[in-house]
Amino acid sequence: ATYISAAEDVLSSISHQFNVDDDCLFNITKAFLREMAEGLANYGYPMAMIPTFVTSIPDGSEKGTFLALDLGGTNLRVCEVHLHGDQTFNIRQKKYKVSDALKTGEVTTLFDYLADSVDAFLTESGSPSCALPPSLARRESNDGSLDDDADRPYIPLGLTFSFPVEQTALDSGRLLTWTKGFSAKNAIGKDVVKLLQDAFDRKNMHVRCVALVNDTVGAHLSRAYASGGCILGAIFGTGTNGAYVEDITKISKLGNSISGAEGGFMIVNTEWGGFNNSRSALPSTSFDNKLDRESINPRKQAFEKFISGMYLGEVTRNVIISLIDTAPKALLFSGHSSNQLNKQWGVDTALLSEIEEAWVGIGRFAPKETNGTGTMNGTETGADTIDETNRAHITKQPCSDLEKLERIRGVIVKRMELPSGVVSLDDAYVVRRICTLVASRAARLSACAVAAVLVQTGRARLPKEGVERGVAPLVDEGKCIIVGVDGSLIEFYPHFGKELRASLRVLVGEEVESRVDIGMAKDGSGVGAALCALVAYRLN
Ligand code: ADP
Repeated sequence: ATYISAAEDVLSSISHQFNVDDDCLFNITKAFLREMAEGLANYGYPMAMIPTFVTSIPDGSEKGTFLALDLGGTNLRVCEVHLHGDQTFNIRQKKYKVSDALKTGEVTTLFDYLADSVDAFLTESGSPSCALPPSLARRESNDGSLDDDADRPYIPLGLTFSFPVEQTALDSGRLLTWTKGFSAKNAIGKDVVKLLQDAFDRKNMHVRCVALVNDTVGAHLSRAYASGGCILGAIFGTGTNGAYVEDITKISKLGNSISGAEGGFMIVNTEWGGFNNSRSALPSTSFDNKLDRESINPRKQAFEKFISGMYLGEVTRNVIISLIDTAPKALLFSGHSSNQLNKQWGVDTALLSEIEEAWVGIGRFAPKETNGTGTMNGTETGADTIDETNRAHITKQPCSDLEKLERIRGVIVKRMELPSGVVSLDDAYVVRRICTLVASRAARLSACAVAAVLVQTGRARLPKEGVERGVAPLVDEGKCIIVGVDGSLIEFYPHFGKELRASLRVLVGEEVESRVDIGMAKDGSGVGAALCALVAYRLN
């Protein structure tokens, strides 16, 4: 009992630090809107607001077969996507490993490998039945002569390239910087579509890269295809980012370079992971500061470090270690630690999910007879709405809090590699509370990003704002507001979507929130790239 009361004191202090009250949410959303405006007007801001040159949104009637290539992390994926034109699709895909040598070697070697992977995919599975019109197919070779093999059909390919790229057209963009462990030489500043096309041409492959998309834009397009429209695509995975539909006239940094006719719009890739790098609005704790200081990009991607899968485990680890180190009496694990806990990044965000699942009895802790229904995995052809209802039918077995804590204790012993004898049920209680604090804060902050997009696009207003600005009617009043999301955090973390919605309700009011339909964007990078390839195809 004394232990718990000491732990409660510490927990209440930590809980106070992680608490983001409603006023704080409003202030963050307002700061978000200011940074969006800055990024729309200027180049070079951390929240880059990158114009994507995608100026039409799918409605589900799109048809065709396209290749897609997805480079953005550990694996490279080649997919063949069949869009059926009725909001459904089939996808056939193969993953290829990208070795560290490729990630850090000469860029042409990396892109030759991409081309080889596409070649291997086509050899194994046969060419898809799609061809390009001659205007796209006939292209000049490097020596300026026209390709004399042009009557052989070219296969159109969309490239999903999830690194910061300054896009200059639907089919060109310069790499600004590598992230996620890539550092291939002689790539920065180069047009990645040209790098890929040159690799296809070196191998005399009849494949043409016609479109370049970011994974966030892919999520947006894929949800739009499946649902007949979408205003925001958002990723809550390793990182976080969002892409939304903006009036072209508001992207003032484009100047006259693109038609700003009334009603014209373009998807903007916000790069919102870089929001508030000054941290003037974000509620930093000492645990966040430690993470930031020890990261490879201090003072950068501030918002992302509060929200995404790459970081939540590490913030949690920092809190846990601080409680192991509490003097004179350790407040966790009797002062024991482990190699796993002592390692930077030693706690994966998936472990936070596992602890929460153990508490609520879903996922791998679901009762046997309804096993496998606790996640949001759905069909390939539709979007799954995140409202927790797909978990509601799970009949939870009556389970006492002690039994739940016992399950959590088991997870901690196994995943944190601690000797069983040093982890008590009280420890399990404290660890779960920490995980909840870290994840809830992430979900609440995520709501600010969604709310800011709704306000920016005229679909919502923050309280009092209507009075100050005069009450202009909301855009699409009464209509469903479709948001597509992707990423392990929102897909698998219990209640992440529900908590995000609760904070969104605080920010934009119940009426607007009730019209927001947040659903998974299935196979965003493949389907999104295919849809972009189709747009390019139509433009030619
Ligand atoms: P990516 O964003 O790289 O495309 P994911 O969406 O799968 O890939 O996100 C991977 C991130 O999600 C990793 O940082 C990992 O820690 C985290 N993650 C993986 N599984 C889970 C889970 N079940 N719950 C919460 N986070 C998870």
